[in-house]
Amino acid sequence: MQKGNISVQTENIFPIIKKFLYSDQEIFLRELVSNAVDATSKLKTLNRKGEFKGDIGEDTIDIMIDKEAKTLTIRDRGIGMTKEEVEKYLNQVALSSAQDFVDKYQEDASIIGHFGLGFYSAFMVADKVEVNTLSWKDGAEPVRWICEGDPSYEIGEGDRDFRGTDIILHVSDDSVQYLEDSEIEGLLNKYARFLPIPIRFGTKTETTYEESDVAVIEGEEKPEPVKVEKEVDNIINNPEPLWKKNPADLTDDDYKDFYRELYPMGQPPMFWIHLNIDFPFNLTGILYFPKVSGGLELQRNKIQLYSNQVYVTDDVKEIVPEFLTLLHGVIDSPDIPLNVSRSYLQADTNVKKITGYITKKVAEKLNSLFKDNREDYEAKWADLGVFVKYGMISEEKFYDRAKKFVLLENTDNRKFTIEEYKERIAENQTDKHDKVIGIYTADEDRQHTLVAGAIERGYDVLKLEHAIDAPFIQSLEQKEGMTFVRVDSATPDQLVQKDEEKELLLNEEEQTTVKDLFTTVVGEKGNVELKPLDTTDAPVQIVRNEFMRRMKEMQQLQGMDTS
Ligand code: ADP
Ligand code: MG
Repeated sequence: MQKGNISVQTENIFPIIKKFLYSDQEIFLRELVSNAVDATSKLKTLNRKGEFKGDIGEDTIDIMIDKEAKTLTIRDRGIGMTKEEVEKYLNQVALSSAQDFVDKYQEDASIIGHFGLGFYSAFMVADKVEVNTLSWKDGAEPVRWICEGDPSYEIGEGDRDFRGTDIILHVSDDSVQYLEDSEIEGLLNKYARFLPIPIRFGTKTETTYEESDVAVIEGEEKPEPVKVEKEVDNIINNPEPLWKKNPADLTDDDYKDFYRELYPMGQPPMFWIHLNIDFPFNLTGILYFPKVSGGLELQRNKIQLYSNQVYVTDDVKEIVPEFLTLLHGVIDSPDIPLNVSRSYLQADTNVKKITGYITKKVAEKLNSLFKDNREDYEAKWADLGVFVKYGMISEEKFYDRAKKFVLLENTDNRKFTIEEYKERIAENQTDKHDKVIGIYTADEDRQHTLVAGAIERGYDVLKLEHAIDAPFIQSLEQKEGMTFVRVDSATPDQLVQKDEEKELLLNEEEQTTVKDLFTTVVGEKGNVELKPLDTTDAPVQIVRNEFMRRMKEMQQLQGMDTS
């Protein structure tokens, strides 16, 4: 056997980066702004550690467009780079200073960089990249580095006279949209909205109204307020987002305001969970329970995923269990691997732990609401019920926690836990084997007569009227040893099948006539059976066998039956 080294043709590396490394061209801005944030955070760490003794002064990052020169510049006032550092980190693909820095200064784990590839994403939109930088180190000289998207580069003396780095992108002809203010502002709002260092994109006009200083004259109307327009810095981001703060310092209004910041159009949330854990993985965030009642379409995928305050995606299907995508809010975790395939994410152990942690937190929150103020919890049930039931049928672990606080509501609008309900009906509604039989209506208005008949006989009737209730009932039957019959499954006196036989009043001939008559009317939709009549019964009741009906419904759901 021989040993060898696989070699990389550097000429080929740029086309590969351009084509395959990033699925989304626009993330070049996220990468370059993240580098600028890292450079600034590093300077602050050095300052805290006493290594950088100078004045940090302004730390704002500027994003500037020069339409004439066709350039987009990202300017920071961070640590800058010496000539050696430029040669080391920019000339060598996949070399990052991030890990070295974190290792050396321990306490600061909030550095965004990781792989040493982000910088090259600049070449997706620029055919020439210029770096103009001055290191924070004493006696450092300004350096200029120019590269035209091939492996050769130029390096020489720069002209920067203050600490930090300018990354100047000469935008290529097929990416001119990145010279438009609206495009860049849109991208900054998406990716940089909660980055920890202020990010400025030019200025904006701010309009305020001030009291007029014209004296008020007796008998005349008060002068109109004066409109005042001022040019102010256009700061894109909120560098201290709520989820990074200590929950003990926050009020309900803080949480509601932040919800509005995230979803300006939404109704106020019902309640929220502040997530904060740093072992065995690091995760912060706030999850909100939105109001879902009133027939509103459930809004999914509103949870935004961040990594060290950098926006990553709002498609979190693989990170949180599906039922939790009904929640809103943010999750921030540097431990979720980014830029990797979906199937890999699902298998990732960190992601699995995170999923479990979030599920547990959500269940705990609901449990404490239920325990601390049952009345209030019941009042919110209309908004919560679908969510809880959906969680129970889709996540075993959640089922086990939620069975203590899921509520069953009867036609008197009274609500019971599963245990309470079993106890309530144990006497009256059990079959031969002492299995409790829950009786329910799927449509109280339409099944009104049947419901009334059942209640007349002392039965309790549950309202299970939502689409989620059919699979929910099945879960209860499997796990709680209960049986459910819909109120139209049998005549009321037979809902609980242990009643003694009663005599029919019709003779055999009459029975056949009536049966034939109804068979023609009902057609194939139901089997006609004649049952003894009670005084409380409506003279004719159309009932359908519980099992047959469920089968039919399942077929319809799967599109196998359209009748
Ligand atoms: P990463 O950010 O993952 O480390 P990049 O390819 O984005 O990888 O950057 C490579 C390295 O270049 C960084 O680790 C850093 O040392 C250096 N660098 C990039 N941009 C800047 C900047 N604006 N200021 C100082 N150093 C920078
Ligand atoms: Mg980077």
